[in-house]
Amino acid sequence: MVKKALVLGGGFAGLVLWRALLRDERVEATLVDQNNYHIFQPLLYQVATGELESSAVTRTFREIAHRTPGTFILGEVTAIDPVAGTVTLDPSRILTFDYLYITLGTVTNFFGNGNLQCLALDLKNAEAAEQTKSRIAYALERAATCTDREACRAWLTFAVAGGGPAGVEFCCSLAQRLHRTIEMEYPGLDSHDLRIVLIQGGGRLLEGMADPAPAAAAEKLESLGVEVFYGHRVTGFDGEAIRCGGEGQVPVSIPARTLVWTAGVHPPEVIARMAAPKTHDGRLVTDPHLRLPGYDNIFVAGDLAGNDRGLSWPQTAPFAIQSARHALRVTRAMLDGGFLPEPFSYSDPGSMVTLGRFDAICIFPQLSLRFGGIWAWMAWTILHLYRIIGMRNRFTALLDWFQDYVLHDYTGSRIDSTTISWGEKLPRETCRKSQKTSDTLNR
Ligand SMILES: Cc1cc2nc3c(=O)[nH]c(=O)nc-3n(C[C@H](O)[C@H](O)[C@H](O)COP(=O)(O)OP(=O)(O)OC[C@H]3O[C@@H](n4cnc5c(N)ncnc54)[C@H](O)[C@@H]3O)c2cc1C
Repeated sequence: MVKKALVLGGGFAGLVLWRALLRDERVEATLVDQNNYHIFQPLLYQVATGELESSAVTRTFREIAHRTPGTFILGEVTAIDPVAGTVTLDPSRILTFDYLYITLGTVTNFFGNGNLQCLALDLKNAEAAEQTKSRIAYALERAATCTDREACRAWLTFAVAGGGPAGVEFCCSLAQRLHRTIEMEYPGLDSHDLRIVLIQGGGRLLEGMADPAPAAAAEKLESLGVEVFYGHRVTGFDGEAIRCGGEGQVPVSIPARTLVWTAGVHPPEVIARMAAPKTHDGRLVTDPHLRLPGYDNIFVAGDLAGNDRGLSWPQTAPFAIQSARHALRVTRAMLDGGFLPEPFSYSDPGSMVTLGRFDAICIFPQLSLRFGGIWAWMAWTILHLYRIIGMRNRFTALLDWFQDYVLHDYTGSRIDSTTISWGEKLPRETCRKSQKTSDTLNR
């Protein structure tokens, strides 16, 4: 009998599962996602800085599956009940399954600060990256029409919270982009008024990466004129100034109109509400085969998978892909009625981070290889081109990069009446709603 396989979330992990299950005649695979497209998150920072069009990093699920038509349902998962064996969706619908794969990823964590949730931007999805891009363009336009120098400087101050890979990559790219844009397109602005500030809670950047990545990133940021505040956390933002503080640090207030938040993620609300054991950071505890304890047919993969064996799995694309592949192997063994494979173990393929145009750092511990500069950037480019889903997306990315890096022709940003001008026109209702959501999440 054909089994029903339900994949929740079409990110890195979900897509590996759905595509493989579609080719297995023993199962009928269904994917559920709140968007009808997959997002290649590692390149979202380039959408925000105008290096890439969002069409290069997104692809609809129906396009992806066109050779093996499968079932896709557009809907938000609002409840998962392992005991009843049901998944509830909005718009209202209840689904049942023989095998379930929970791969819903994470959402931005504003640590319960409603103002930040309202006023800060983030890079977690395509819409957020587009909003950030519009907001940067808007800030430049506002600065261009300011008569007061201090007000102009506040519009030209861009703060980024979080010195992990996303924050560092974004700052390098933003600094290069803004210096050039001001020089080429805003003759009335003084590029000396441009200020990019990176606020990092810890004492070093890129905390998860081995040496020499943190020092190389710090050096590069300094050369690009980015100020780094170590040991500081953002404590407040009212749309006009950012307040930061830290243990043993004098509190600082930075006049700035734009704050981009890359300082943390946590599981979505539906997981927080789910009656299942969680790790200290809210991920779902799994058994050695990435299944919910006590449920042989419910798998968790990607950012949401946690374990209680003292290990902390990285929230990265390679982990998402490896964990999804393990869930597949176990499913196939169960369908065959054979032996289960060895328990899941993660193999770290290494890490890469870009430091702006033609510069990156690559660290491959298994090969004892560390290198930087243009060769690292080329390795990064080739790997990301290979990983982007779909030939059309790859060509779009290649063309965009050629235009940016060789012709210095960035993709422009639209500002229209729907562009929210944070700290000025954001409807109070939206703020209250966000505050409520944030309170619920952190309760
Ligand atoms: C800006 C940024 C840069 C990054 N850079 C890198 C990098 O350089 N290298 C790297 O390895 N990793 C990077 N990561 C991390 C990497 O993207 C994640 O680890 C990876 O995407 C996790 O995969 P996943 O399948 O668990 O979840 P995701 O890829 O997040 O996919 C989750 C899916 O679930 C859907 N979903 C969520 N909630 C619901 C719901 N309630 N109902 C229906 N659908 C839902 C979402 O729409 C999404 O499609 C980056 C992340 C970000 C945000």
